[in-house]
Amino acid sequence: MESIEIKNKIIKSFNENINSHAFLFVTNNIGECYKEIKDIVKIINCPSGGNDDCKICHTIESETNPDYIVIKTEEKEIKKDIIEMLMDNFKTMPLMNKYKIYTIVEANKLNASSANKLLKFLEEPESNIVGFYITDNLQSVLPTIKSRCEIINYRFGADNILSVLNITEEDYGNYFDTSAQLIGLLEDSPKYKLMAEAKSLKEKERYEILNIFELIRKIYIIKFENVVNKEYNNLNYVKILLDVVGCDDINLLSKRIKCLDEIISDMQCNVNKELVINKFFLIWE
Ligand SMILES: [Zn+2]
Repeated sequence: MESIEIKNKIIKSFNENINSHAFLFVTNNIGECYKEIKDIVKIINCPSGGNDDCKICHTIESETNPDYIVIKTEEKEIKKDIIEMLMDNFKTMPLMNKYKIYTIVEANKLNASSANKLLKFLEEPESNIVGFYITDNLQSVLPTIKSRCEIINYRFGADNILSVLNITEEDYGNYFDTSAQLIGLLEDSPKYKLMAEAKSLKEKERYEILNIFELIRKIYIIKFENVVNKEYNNLNYVKILLDVVGCDDINLLSKRIKCLDEIISDMQCNVNKELVINKFFLIWE
């Protein structure tokens, strides 16, 4: 699901009074995610659904709203006393908003005693109290918190491509452009042009060549799956990958994937890299 759909789904759940009382957003960009949450907080509290700049919207934006508390720290841990202050503040009914809302940025910084304090909110939620927890490190969020929140996967930008391709940001930076260019050539160049490209490929280290072929293979597999079941069509970050490969003939795509399988396996078996690259351009259809 794309982030806008996730956001709308959450807002809808508030409109229908079937919302969770605690959400744990797992993201790769805390700052952007925090902005999105602030937007949700405005929409669910504003009488006109966030479509104006009323006092509620305005004070949420400037973080001066009495019913909206944000907890974030530069320190290593979010300490118990901060949570105690939050609990005190939340004993009263909302002054301005429909809901009293707390946001905990970097929920992975909650230590055991602060997490225990929060259990009251999480286990006996009052209908007008809602918590938004944000983390970029789900592994480190305490199970007491994790297990009591609705977990929302909220990812941004290029990292979506990273998760689809299952590669690190570093590998993406090192190999994506080269791989995409090579695919462009493979898609519509005559053989003699390909052979010229082979020369520059041969100059690279074996591990680099292997990484490039593996990435190309992943991109072809994504294209193949898309042609077969169309499921990725509307996702912008996959569209970037799909546009790289022009071909949408299932048989041809499947032949190309087999060709890449063979070449990758040769590279892994330490066959001479010049030979493998020559073979690749020769058998490529
Ligand atoms: Zn408003």
